[in-house]
Amino acid sequence: MEKQRYERPVIIKLESNMPNKFGLRTEYKPKTHIDNVSVKDLINEYGSPLFVISEKTIRSTYKNAKKAFTTRYPKVQFAWSYKTNYLSAVCNVFHQEGSWAEVVSGFEYDKAIKNGVDGKKIIFNGPDKTEKDLTKAIENDSLIHIDHLDELYTIIELSEKLNKKPKVAIRVNMDTGIYPMWDRFGFNYENGQAWDALNKIMRSKKLDLVGLHTHIGTFMLSPQAYGTAAYKLAELAIGIQKKYDHEIKYIDMGGGFASKNTLKGAYLPGVDTSPSFDDFSEAITSALINSDFKPDKLPLLILETGRALIDDAGFLLGTVISNKRLSDGKRTTIIDVGVNILFTSFWYDHKVTPAQPFTQYTEDTVLYGPLCMNIDVIRENASLPLLNKGDNIVIHQVGAYNMTQWMQFITLRPKVVMIDMDGKTHIIRENESIDSITSFEKVPEYLKKFEL
Ligand SMILES: *Cc1c(COP(=O)(O)O)cnc(C)c1O
Repeated sequence: MEKQRYERPVIIKLESNMPNKFGLRTEYKPKTHIDNVSVKDLINEYGSPLFVISEKTIRSTYKNAKKAFTTRYPKVQFAWSYKTNYLSAVCNVFHQEGSWAEVVSGFEYDKAIKNGVDGKKIIFNGPDKTEKDLTKAIENDSLIHIDHLDELYTIIELSEKLNKKPKVAIRVNMDTGIYPMWDRFGFNYENGQAWDALNKIMRSKKLDLVGLHTHIGTFMLSPQAYGTAAYKLAELAIGIQKKYDHEIKYIDMGGGFASKNTLKGAYLPGVDTSPSFDDFSEAITSALINSDFKPDKLPLLILETGRALIDDAGFLLGTVISNKRLSDGKRTTIIDVGVNILFTSFWYDHKVTPAQPFTQYTEDTVLYGPLCMNIDVIRENASLPLLNKGDNIVIHQVGAYNMTQWMQFITLRPKVVMIDMDGKTHIIRENESIDSITSFEKVPEYLKKFEL
């Protein structure tokens, strides 16, 4: 056995608002390996900080989600939400599993095409689709989800110009009992905008109305809100069926299922409180099955789940730079992971675990990043064992949004590696370098010289 590290004796102040005299529970086990690959080896080989994605976790989470729906409903299709994580290797794992692509910009659309997704299996959402984007999507028979009337009229014009019948759906927003309502996207159900848009589409005869779409919010903790939304979309579809004898082929419930992360200020950890895929599925599929659709005419159910499918698969490894005490004596640890590469630390108390064995003494600690910015705080308060300079840490559940919203600021963005099903690692995004960053810049000739 390794010799135990000496820790000087300390007097611990009791915190009166803690559940017990030992304070908040901390993780008792170090996270030394991810999918049997050593965290220390990963850092030695690829540097620190380092994003690590577990392909095994992506596939197993996806299979779980799919099973929750296919056991309850006959026709189910997932479409991977590109903005949640559009690293091509990640998208392609989802495409290999059978996911279509869900994109919200011309850039994301082109990325899906480049990844090899058939245009017919790309869902194009979002309020900002240019004429050029729409032309491409119409020519490829993609599924265009209309956000506003200006877009609807542009598509009608383009359909005449291109002599094609675009495949469209409308995005519907509605009161699902969750506030604030996301009513800035799409057409409102309650005030009749959605019904109005559907009638305009049907009357034009220029567009092929194939679906109805909603995306009620993100990090939703209420399955019942989805049940309400599904029921309202079913009402609209049945209304169209009755009035025009036209069948809506799919109902797209969007994304937004909460992942297992812990929201700031939450009383209990997300792993204990976030609903399961089964909970969401039960609410959605029951609403559709109990609606007035004929049992043999149930529409295809599309899901654009993002964060709940990828958060668990992402890890961010880092290294301790230093420890110090604030003026009030509070312990702080500075690590090499900043908020510029971990945007979600603004919303979540990410689980952080040491990557090496530790002793049982813990202390409330602030975890600071390396940026020269007061807001660079990864955890405002985490009960952690003592970490020394050079020790490594693992930040958990970082797969969603960080690798798309990150920004280059003060430091350079690190590598991203994927651990495949056999435990082999692959670099799926290179780290930035001074050359890669400056390659975007241009210095006018007269500014190239100076004397100091
Ligand atoms: C962002 C987004 C998603 C994915 O949302 P998650 O919260 O990551 O599940 C799905 N559909 C649309 C239209 C979106 O904008």
